[in-house]
Amino acid sequence: MRDWLPSGKQAAVCVTIDDIHPGKSSDLYEAGGDLEAGALGQVHWLLKRHPQLWVTLFTTADWRETSPVPTLKMLARNRYLRDKLYLTELHPVGTMRLGRHPDFVAYLKSLPRTELAFHGLHHIHKGPKVLVEFQNDLSLEECRAIVGEMIAVFEEAGLRYARGMNPPGWEFPPNLATAMIEAGLVFVSSARDIRTPISATAVTAMSGLTGRSLIFPELICDGKLIHFTANFQATSRIERAFEVIDLGGLLSIKAHIIKNACGHIALDGVDELYCNYLDLLFSELERRYGDALWWTSLGAIAERMMSRDGCAAQPAGS
Ligand SMILES: [Zn+2]
Repeated sequence: MRDWLPSGKQAAVCVTIDDIHPGKSSDLYEAGGDLEAGALGQVHWLLKRHPQLWVTLFTTADWRETSPVPTLKMLARNRYLRDKLYLTELHPVGTMRLGRHPDFVAYLKSLPRTELAFHGLHHIHKGPKVLVEFQNDLSLEECRAIVGEMIAVFEEAGLRYARGMNPPGWEFPPNLATAMIEAGLVFVSSARDIRTPISATAVTAMSGLTGRSLIFPELICDGKLIHFTANFQATSRIERAFEVIDLGGLLSIKAHIIKNACGHIALDGVDELYCNYLDLLFSELERRYGDALWWTSLGAIAERMMSRDGCAAQPAGS
C-alpha cells in the first residue's frame, strides 16, 4: 500500500482548502479576496512558519452562490417549482470570474508552495441542495460544458492548476467523472470522512463517495482517476493524525476558506484558532517524524501515481 510514496518516506501530509474565490469582507463574505489581510493571509502565515508545507486551494472559477441554504422560502416550499429554480439570490455571471480580479490572481500566484485545483464553475445548483453543483440530474453534455468553461476561466486568468477537482458539496456523479476524464483531469477529492476510526482497511462512510479508502490514495474509474479522501479537520483530535501516519497513510487535512457565510459557521473555517491548531499539529509532526514524512500536495501525488502507472490522460493545460 506504500508504493505511492517516494523512497524513504513513511507517510504523507497535505492540506486542502475549499471555496477560494475573490469575495471580500465588503461583499457578503470573505473567501480570500482580502488577500494578505484576510483568510489567505493566515494560510500564508502557516506556509512561512512551516517551510515544507504545501497547500492545495480548491478554487471556484466564477462563484455565484450567496447563501449555502435556500433563502427564497416561498419557492423552497413549492414542491412543483423548487427543483426547477435557484432557491437563493445569485451573483450575476462574471461577478466573481477569476480573470476579472487581477489583484486576487496576482496574490494567488505569489503564495509559496501553493497549487490551485478546481472547485466547480459556479458552486450552485437548482433545488434545495443549493451548493451541490454536480447532481445526478445533470447530463453528460451539461457536465462537459461546465467542466470546459471552468477550465477556460482558469486559462483566461493565466492561472496554473493541478489536474483535479473537489466537487462542491462532495457529490461526484458518473457523468461528472466522464467529463473530467475527457477533459484530462486525473484526480478527484470527493469523500470526506472525519468520523470513521482510522485503520488500514477503513473505508469512507460520510460525505461524498462512500466505500473508498479512508487513508490511502486509490485508483477509481478503471484507473483513470485517483481518489483522495479528506480524513482530518479542525474538530479532529491530534491522535487521529498520528494514527494515519503510523499506518503509512495520507493525512489529508481539510479547511474551508469561509468561516462565516451569512451566519452559517464552518467548523473547519480558516480562522486564527484553526491556524493555531494546525501550527501546533505541524510542529508536532515535524518533531515526531522528521524526514520520514512527505509534505506534498494532491496534484504532486496524482502526477507521481499516474506517471508510474502509465495511465495518465493527456495534460489538460499549463
Ligand atoms: Zn465548496
